[in-house]
Amino acid sequence: MYRHLDPGPPPPASSEATARVMRRTKRTGTAPEIALRKALHARGLRFVVDQAPPGTNRRRRVDVLLRGAKIAVFVDGCFWHSCPEHSTTPKANREWWQRKLLGIVLRDRDTDVQLAEAGWLVVRVWEHEAPADAAERIRALVRSRIT
Ligand SMILES: [Zn+2]
Repeated sequence: MYRHLDPGPPPPASSEATARVMRRTKRTGTAPEIALRKALHARGLRFVVDQAPPGTNRRRRVDVLLRGAKIAVFVDGCFWHSCPEHSTTPKANREWWQRKLLGIVLRDRDTDVQLAEAGWLVVRVWEHEAPADAAERIRALVRSRIT
């Protein structure tokens, strides 16, 4: 059973740069998400956005759902989801940030398991990936799942 690692209340932002990062929390329709949606659309793929598939946790919305192929796509920000190439931990309030970012990664993996158990193929696209490359990868997966 998964339990969210609660890092406690956020510390006061130590600098304007950190404050900016903290404000940039996950919303739907971020620039990388919109770029991916356009690239998918240009390839004739149809999808719905920001929904949880039936039978899964309503609070874990998926960025892009390709319902026919049962593919769930997330566009993960490099900072918040600890991309292996660009992850950083702010120096100030370091321990709080470590718990916070670890909690997000654990929740992501738990979401992956829940979706897989409901029959969905989970695809995670990093914010730093070229939208056209990601869209090609997804198109190939759609083809392999719809025969
Ligand atoms: Zn990255």
